[in-house]
Amino acid sequence: MDAVHKKVIILGSGPAGYTAAIYAARANLQPMILTGFQKGGQLTTTTEVENFPGFPEGVDGNELMSHMEKQAARFETEIEMGEVTEVDLSVRPFKVFVGNQLYACDALIIATGASARYLGLESETTYKGRGVSACATCDGFFYRGKKVAVIGGGDSALEEASYLTNFCERVYLVHRRDEFRGSKAMQDRVLKNEKVEVVWDSVVDEVIGDETGMTDLRVKNLKTGETKLLGTEGMFVAIGHTPNTKLFESSLELDDKNYLVTQDGSSKTNIEGVFACGDVMDSVYRQAITAAGTGCMAAIDAERWLAEQE
Ligand code: NDP
Repeated sequence: MDAVHKKVIILGSGPAGYTAAIYAARANLQPMILTGFQKGGQLTTTTEVENFPGFPEGVDGNELMSHMEKQAARFETEIEMGEVTEVDLSVRPFKVFVGNQLYACDALIIATGASARYLGLESETTYKGRGVSACATCDGFFYRGKKVAVIGGGDSALEEASYLTNFCERVYLVHRRDEFRGSKAMQDRVLKNEKVEVVWDSVVDEVIGDETGMTDLRVKNLKTGETKLLGTEGMFVAIGHTPNTKLFESSLELDDKNYLVTQDGSSKTNIEGVFACGDVMDSVYRQAITAAGTGCMAAIDAERWLAEQE
């Protein structure tokens, strides 16, 4: 099989991947980005990003990612759509497969990010895409004038609940404890919104539906054991994320939460020439700006390491 050879390949096209590409390209490394199935990453499912410096009025997540892509392309980053199916990091050049297509590279930057978590109920799986979603920005529009539930108590859940009030008649925010994890500012915004009703100390017991899709949601109060129906036709799960590290399980060191382990203060993994940045290696901060920052670090680490090899 003929391989397309590159000095640097970057896996993933979120803020980490594009920032790594901008820096690597400007260092004359002619990088290639393999975008993954969700080009632009998680920010493409966000409405307003208010905390990325440089945008005093906030910026739409899709627009921000489109800017980053254009900036990477301007310095001649090759941007290939494609979902990596296998990697071989046992010998150099490293091998990256996208189906039958083989790519080879001297340095690999992993910026594969993280994906939304689901509750794991069978009924949740049954109605995924037919009432159950993990992205209000993508699917909220379908619930115009209806009742929906958001599950979770972090910033994502608070943000989704707030966003959904733009379309929905009522938004139930179902949280398993009696206090939110999300920021005070987001809590205030949500608690002030008359369309939001918080269902404290409660978890999803069952997603109910028929051949048309989800028709109701049964929740259970953990303190009293009582169950009740919310009458919602949509459920948005916002309970955090899982790092996209499946491809690297057998070759790279992962921590107890399956995030890639990097050496202190750098983007270096346990294999020389393989670097990691963004949400795939960060279970603590998980912000667009920190992802971009570590993307920059990965490109600089890769550039210096490649120079040492020559
Ligand atoms: P978090 O991990 O912060 O919150 C997850 C929430 O889901 C928690 O309230 C948790 O409950 C709940 N949860 C987890 N598992 C389950 C389960 N099995 N059943 C029911 N509930 C569950 O994730 P987020 O995605 O909200 O946020 C991730 C990071 O991104 C954070 O650092 C956040 O600040 C940031 N963020 C920032 C935004 C912004 O600034 N605009 C927007 C969105 C996210 P419990 O609290 O009991 O653990």
